[in-house]
Amino acid sequence: MRNERIDLGSSVPLSEAVSEVSGAASDPFALARRLQTAVWIYDIDNARIAYANQSAVHLWDAKSEDDLRKRDLAKDMSSTVANRLKQYQADFQERDAVFNEMWTLYPKGKPTSAMVVYRGFEMPDGRMAMQCEVLGEANDQPDNLRSAEALLHTDVMITLYEMDGPPLYMNPAARNAAKEVMQKISDKFVDHTDYDKLVAKMSTSGEHRMVAKVKADNGQRWYDLSAKQCSDAVTGDPAILVTAIDVSELKIARDKARYLADRDQLTGCYNRAYLLRHMAALEKFKTERCALLYFDVDHFKQINDRLGHELGDVVLQRIATRTNDAIRSNDTLVRLGGDEFVIVFEDVPSEAEFLPKIENLLEVLSRPITHDTMRVSVTASMGIAMFSPVSADFTAVMREADTALYASKQAGRNRVTVFNDEMGSKAQARDLVELQLKNSVKERDFVLHFQPRVNLATGRVVSVEGLVRWQHPDRGIVLPGEFIPICEETGLIEELGQLVLEMGCKQAIAWHRSGIDVELSLNISPRQFDDARLMEALREFSKHPDFPDGKIELEITESVLIGDHGLIEGKLEKIAQMGYRIAIDDFGTGYSNLSYISRFPLNCLKIDQSFINQLPKTGPIIGLILTLAKQIGATVVAEGVETQEQFDWLCQNECNQVQGFLLSRPVPVEEIEKVIEKLDLSRRGECT
Ligand code: C2E
Ligand code: MG
Ligand code: MG
Repeated sequence: MRNERIDLGSSVPLSEAVSEVSGAASDPFALARRLQTAVWIYDIDNARIAYANQSAVHLWDAKSEDDLRKRDLAKDMSSTVANRLKQYQADFQERDAVFNEMWTLYPKGKPTSAMVVYRGFEMPDGRMAMQCEVLGEANDQPDNLRSAEALLHTDVMITLYEMDGPPLYMNPAARNAAKEVMQKISDKFVDHTDYDKLVAKMSTSGEHRMVAKVKADNGQRWYDLSAKQCSDAVTGDPAILVTAIDVSELKIARDKARYLADRDQLTGCYNRAYLLRHMAALEKFKTERCALLYFDVDHFKQINDRLGHELGDVVLQRIATRTNDAIRSNDTLVRLGGDEFVIVFEDVPSEAEFLPKIENLLEVLSRPITHDTMRVSVTASMGIAMFSPVSADFTAVMREADTALYASKQAGRNRVTVFNDEMGSKAQARDLVELQLKNSVKERDFVLHFQPRVNLATGRVVSVEGLVRWQHPDRGIVLPGEFIPICEETGLIEELGQLVLEMGCKQAIAWHRSGIDVELSLNISPRQFDDARLMEALREFSKHPDFPDGKIELEITESVLIGDHGLIEGKLEKIAQMGYRIAIDDFGTGYSNLSYISRFPLNCLKIDQSFINQLPKTGPIIGLILTLAKQIGATVVAEGVETQEQFDWLCQNECNQVQGFLLSRPVPVEEIEKVIEKLDLSRRGECT
């Protein structure tokens, strides 16, 4: 037994006196029983009073010591108090702690406040109990009593520190939460600069409030701290009074809310709001060498429409992950929405160093993406604009990057383009074209020109392709290469497509009525194929009494066939049942998965002109297409035949039909009727 543990204050040094008392060995409390002041031993483990002197029996309003011993104090004890007592027990054990507190006892439920000194007391069985010695019952003003009570029971942590020293006082909440009770204020902060900030602020204004990360008993926590310079009421020495509230949960929730507000949910990248609110406000873009890269996924709409939104989402997620892995930590990836992304690069090296990295990113993005049984390859188009001290503003640079991206698309996609001033003027011109186009679609300022397809077996025109031309109010006839892509981007193609269909079907009906026996093929863009109005219009025309059954062919591209095969097949079947033929245009340039070819009701394959103009090098591929077409019973048309050599090769290899400038350019309706009538290769002995 450690004698000093029963020291009951300076006036009666129990440690010295205890051995003089007879029976001390059997009753460690013998001396205390003779004192006037209330003293008792509280058995923390069992929540009972183990010993009590007469004054204590009186204070606790008990009949006898035995009666008091029988009381189960755990019954009315809050868990906070129980925990605090456990903490005291540990403090007694570890560092011989002595506590001096205003405490409210509740003998038989009646509150009695007293100033009590607590020390450790080792029980005969070796357990650590608490020796409680009343220095005086409080007969203070009620407000003082209440404030002392509040200090003890509040969850707010209150600590009085010596100036850059250990605590002079800690209320129970502060003590419970402390990692080390004697820790100096400067050692409490996880980040020492927070402490430096606090000291600096206090030296000017005497107080400071901050949220900082501190070392607490339960790990690193966020505290809302209020610190105030004051003097110690006992010594008058300068001190710091700190009140603290643990705001970790709140801070984490707030950080999470902020994170979510700044992020795109699908990919976890930053979002448009973050870019415009946070990045756009940073002045450094004007001074440092920064760049903005705008990119999107080529033909993403088709992937989404045909392969489903689930795979579309996977593609976007992979794109985001791959991009994030490829850029540096101080570069920022933002998903603007849909398939559009922006990367803000800080401190860009020279263009010569920077561009190869972007080219590399393009390559990384184009690697196949697999998901379940699906495998898809996508490419991206990119545009870069540089920030400079004269950049008008952030959004202007974004516009420039967008213009450069557009240039990448124009140049064939899957590439990166750096913005220059010339592009800026082109973009303005394009905006003007878009405006004019909108107006022209409304005014129906379009006509069809027709290009013949000749059957090599008979030498006669069997079919014509209707190719749309824009009758521009100032420029005259404009070719589709200049406006179809803009119409596709803006969605105008759906309106224009309806117009072409209407003009084409009317023309076919007119030829049919006047006995001109020719087929007509019309181009359907992928976006139009998805437009519900297409099917309605086709049905409508097919009901016309003079509808030339089997004489109107719709040219779709291979990309239309990618996706939900069942759905596409169903749609194509319906089109075929209505009496239209179906051709694949630009065959060989799309996704070369040939397995679908036999699934769909295809009547015709039009070999893309890029194969024809590379003849005879491309001979083996064309031969393969011819064999394939024969297998599925489809007609093969060679597009873009310009030379006699190409023509001869196609004749010799039994291609069915040819179309190209060698025979006729696309011409207006009056001229094509003459061509249909007159063009006869058999008479010239060129084929058959
Ligand atoms: P396409 O459907 O593959 O049409 C063939 C294009 O090749 C036509 O260009 C035609 O003039 C051109 N061409 C024909 N023979 C030769 C040749 O021997 N040499 C060369 N170099 N070119 C030849 P055009 O009329 O400028 O049309 C370009 C593309 O615009 C078309 O390619 C088609 O994809 C699209 N297009 C045209 N009309 C329409 C339409 O009404 N709707 C849709 N959605 N697209 C259309
Ligand atoms: Mg075509
Ligand atoms: Mg074509």
